[in-house]
Amino acid sequence: MSEQKAVQAKPAEGGAPAKAATPVKKKRVESPVYKFYQVKGEKVERLRKECPRCGRGVFLGEHEDRLTCGKCGYTSFKKK
Ligand SMILES: [Zn+2]
Repeated sequence: MSEQKAVQAKPAEGGAPAKAATPVKKKRVESPVYKFYQVKGEKVERLRKECPRCGRGVFLGEHEDRLTCGKCGYTSFKKK
């Protein structure tokens, strides 16, 4: 494990300007689907709601007030 500290770039006096911090590469974060399941003995329990349109294996993304399907765009508003 390597720790990266945020270093403030300061131009050296009379010298070459300090190197800019390494740009952070954009990484696509895939939703960890395994988190949506919980194995109970021989049965698998789904912790998240599944999309009624796409069916099994497609989970709805949780938002503050709604659940949405990233695949078909289905949106289900949470009841208060
Ligand atoms: Zn869907």
